[in-house]
Amino acid sequence: MSSLLVDNIGELVTNGVGEGPLGIRRRAAVLIEAGRMAWVGPAAYAPAADRRIDAGGAAVLPGFVDSHAHLVFAGDRAAEFAARMAGERYTGGGIRTTVGATRAASDDDLRATVRRLRGEALRQGTTTMEIKSGYGLTVADEARSLRIAAETSTETTFLGAHVVPAEYADRPDDYVGLVCGPMLAAAAPHAKWIDVFCERGAFDVDHARAILACGQAAGLGVRVHANQLGPGPGVQLGVELGAASVDHCTHLSDDDVAALAGTASDDGPGTRTVATLLPGAEFSTRSPYPDARRLLDAGVTVALATDCNPGTSYTSSMPFCVALAVREMGMTPAEAVWAATAGGARALRRDDVGVLTAGARADLVVLDAPSYLHLAYRPGVPLIRQVLLNGVPQ
Ligand SMILES: [Zn+2]
Repeated sequence: MSSLLVDNIGELVTNGVGEGPLGIRRRAAVLIEAGRMAWVGPAAYAPAADRRIDAGGAAVLPGFVDSHAHLVFAGDRAAEFAARMAGERYTGGGIRTTVGATRAASDDDLRATVRRLRGEALRQGTTTMEIKSGYGLTVADEARSLRIAAETSTETTFLGAHVVPAEYADRPDDYVGLVCGPMLAAAAPHAKWIDVFCERGAFDVDHARAILACGQAAGLGVRVHANQLGPGPGVQLGVELGAASVDHCTHLSDDDVAALAGTASDDGPGTRTVATLLPGAEFSTRSPYPDARRLLDAGVTVALATDCNPGTSYTSSMPFCVALAVREMGMTPAEAVWAATAGGARALRRDDVGVLTAGARADLVVLDAPSYLHLAYRPGVPLIRQVLLNGVPQ
């Protein structure tokens, strides 16, 4: 069995035992065997290995865990973005533009887009990436979206309930019946999760509850797009159903925050509902950012993700989201880096990623910087020097 030593690490973020909330170790080394972290310790005591990477005193972090991305689509909406920046408001209606383009695209076109964006994210340090369907909205198009997503990620999410497609505009009950019936049956073999856009203009709480319950009955885990555009019942619905994550959380009541905080006092990380914040969406829609400070102070587990999609957040960059979270959402750099790594892992109910402790997957990034602080301190600068995925240099 071949082993790889990453040596001469100036600052190692483990998210485990160590200094501060990031479990930092200084002058460290890690040994990788069979794609896993086999040993973590002081560089001075590093064991022998078949191969060695010299980190040159740089910082090493767990790879980013992007728990919210919509990569299966065709076309772009740059003109809609420009119109918004000229003063138009985002209403969610633009999703239908992408639905039309996606239905018309070939499998190979969709596959090429997924691979391009996944590659882009990997080069920016993302080693785990959730991928949603939601731009097909027919039985065949949702099934093929998930089939293509599953070629690239094990974290695939059925989002047939993204919007009610135009052909069902007058009969949303019929569309919910389609989602819960034949569409779910065709999607479930390729999906780990089910998700609903629970928002005015998309799905109301009764429809959202019905769809999520059907997904749960089919063995899928629950996630919810909630409270993005205004206050609403989505967050509390997610908590009620034991969702792994409620995503966006931009407009929260005190009761919403208390409901999320209540899950944190349950029986450990496996039962918590994480609040996943998506600052790329507020950036791209010029909207007020979610208040991460309020959630953290209440004891809620917070994750950061990109929401990468062609309409409202066309970024695949987790370092960009970290910088936004620090500058605009009241997070410290340590809180933002934790949320983008271990927090994302919690949002996917994973304990093998987002941490660099013995036994974890060897998904890690070497920065072109001496400290994780530089991710927020030097925004927009390509600081990812090297990415290891499952112990393999990319
Ligand atoms: Zn989304």
